[in-house]
Amino acid sequence: MDYPTTENLTGDTAIGRLMAGNRRYVNEKQTHPNQMPERRAELIDGQRPFAVILGCADSRVPPEVIFDQGLGDLFVVRVAGNIIDDVVLGSAEYAASHLHTPLIMVLGHSQCGAIGATVAGGDLEGHIPSLAEAIRPVLDSIQGQTGDLVDNTARANARIVSEQLKQSTPILSDLVKEGNLKVVAAFYDLDTGLVEVLT
Ligand SMILES: [Zn+2]
Repeated sequence: MDYPTTENLTGDTAIGRLMAGNRRYVNEKQTHPNQMPERRAELIDGQRPFAVILGCADSRVPPEVIFDQGLGDLFVVRVAGNIIDDVVLGSAEYAASHLHTPLIMVLGHSQCGAIGATVAGGDLEGHIPSLAEAIRPVLDSIQGQTGDLVDNTARANARIVSEQLKQSTPILSDLVKEGNLKVVAAFYDLDTGLVEVLT
């Protein structure tokens, strides 16, 4: 599989590559690219992942599987509810500024447990409330929407987090302004396996 380096790659091309991989996955036409020892050897001296995926820790949403990608392709940051804090932000900044990755995709998904627990309210133990605190403000933004409350919240959360990334100073906002970084929100359907880019 001959992949160009990220040197000439734009955010839009990166989205196209992700969506093509997702179609292969959904249609059971996976090519399992870049998973052989040769690829491993190629990457010893460095990495040029073409996309950052900020996804949920949920075991049903592994980015390399649902986008049919391999070693060195995706810079994956996963945390329950795909929310951001300084550590997550620092990871995304590292990929965008040091590895020149042209795309960040914030990937929410259907039937998200972290979102569901926030929507349900009630007492959560240990450090789990910190997840709900990050997600709770999103609930205000979807008042009056019809449809599934948890999935609507997951979509809104992905959109809001992607906006927060775009506006994050100084690194990400500058890269976006210069046209060197695209940030998008997307939603994965557990049932169909399809990823939808949210506009
Ligand atoms: Zn989730």
